[in-house]
Amino acid sequence: MNLLVTGGAGYIGSHMVRELVRAGHKVVVVDSLLTGHEDTIPKDVMFVQADIRDRSEVTEVLRAYDVGAIFHFASRIQVGESVSNPRLYFRDNLAASIELFESALDAKVTRIVFSSTAAVYGDPIRSPIDEDHPKNPVNPYGETKLAVERVLAAYDRAYGLRFAALRYFNAAGADAADGLGERHDPETHLIPLVIDAALGRRPHITVFGGDYATPDGTCVRDYIHVRDLAEAHLAALGYLNAGGASGAFNLGTGRGHSVREIIDAVERVSGRKVPVVHGARRDGDPPVLVASPRRAQDLLGFRAKRSSIDEIIRDAWAARTR
Ligand code: UDP
Repeated sequence: MNLLVTGGAGYIGSHMVRELVRAGHKVVVVDSLLTGHEDTIPKDVMFVQADIRDRSEVTEVLRAYDVGAIFHFASRIQVGESVSNPRLYFRDNLAASIELFESALDAKVTRIVFSSTAAVYGDPIRSPIDEDHPKNPVNPYGETKLAVERVLAAYDRAYGLRFAALRYFNAAGADAADGLGERHDPETHLIPLVIDAALGRRPHITVFGGDYATPDGTCVRDYIHVRDLAEAHLAALGYLNAGGASGAFNLGTGRGHSVREIIDAVERVSGRKVPVVHGARRDGDPPVLVASPRRAQDLLGFRAKRSSIDEIIRDAWAARTR
C-alpha cells in the first residue's frame, strides 16, 4: 500500500515522510512548496509539486500510485495571520481540504490521518484537556481545523471515509541527524526563537506576559517532539487499518512547561545565556494548554518517548546549528 503525505515538505510532514520511509512504506509527497522546502524530501520518495485543490492532478496521483491512505498536513498554521487575513485560512485549510477529500472519494481512498490542533478547544475550562472538552476555537486557524474535523465526521457517516484527527499541542524538536528542522518564515514559535537569541541571531527573546496565573507567571504549554508526533500518525494508521472507529486524539505528553522553563532549558542544554525582555501578553494566548494523552495511549497505543524538554531542546539546537 502506498501512502500520500500532503504538505510532506513542511516541518511536521517532512518528519512524517522520514518515519514512513524508516518503517518501510512507499510514500508519495504532494506539496505546493508555498511554504515547504523541497530539499527535505528524500531522493527515493516520489514528489509531485501540486496544490491539494487540483482535483484532477491529485486524483490521478492517488490512482496512479494506488494510494491506500492519506496523511494530510498541508495547511496554513499562523494563528495571528488567521485573525488578520482569515480568507487564506478558510480557503487553504478548509476549502482545500474539502477538494482533497473529493479526490479521495473519487479515487476510493478510505483512510485519512488529519493534522489537527489543540486550537480547536479555544480557552480551556479544565486542564488537562481531554478530547470531550468543549470546542470553542478563538481564532480562524482553530475554526478551520475544527470545521475540517466536522467535514470528516460527516463523510465518515455518509461515505465511509474513515479518519483520525490528531490534535497537536506544541510540536517541537527535530530529526537533526536527517538534516530536518523547524524552518518557518517568519519564525513565530518559542523554541526556535529562544535558540536564535542564545546564538545571537536575534537580540533577545521577548516573553509574552509575566503575570499569568501560573507558577512563574509565564504561559505553560505541552511540548511534544516532532518525531513522537510522526510515530503517533503511524500508530493512528495502524488503528484505522485494524478497523478502529474514526475519531479525534490529542497528541501531547500531559506535562506542561512554562516559557521561563524553556528559556532555562535552552541555557542548560547550550551553556549559553539567553537575553530576555519582558513584554506584554500576546492576544489570544491561554495561560495553560496541557493535553490529556489518555485516549491516544489507550486506543492508539501511543506514548511520547522523546519528549523530555531537554531532549526536545537538544535536537532543536542541533538542527538549528547545523
Ligand atoms: N512566546 C513568547 N515569546 C515569543 C514566542 C512565543 O513568550 O517570542 C510564548 C507564547 O506566548 C506561548 C508560548 O511561548 O505562551 C508558545 O508559543 P508558540 O508560538 O511557540 O506556540 P503556541 O502555543 O502559540 O502554539
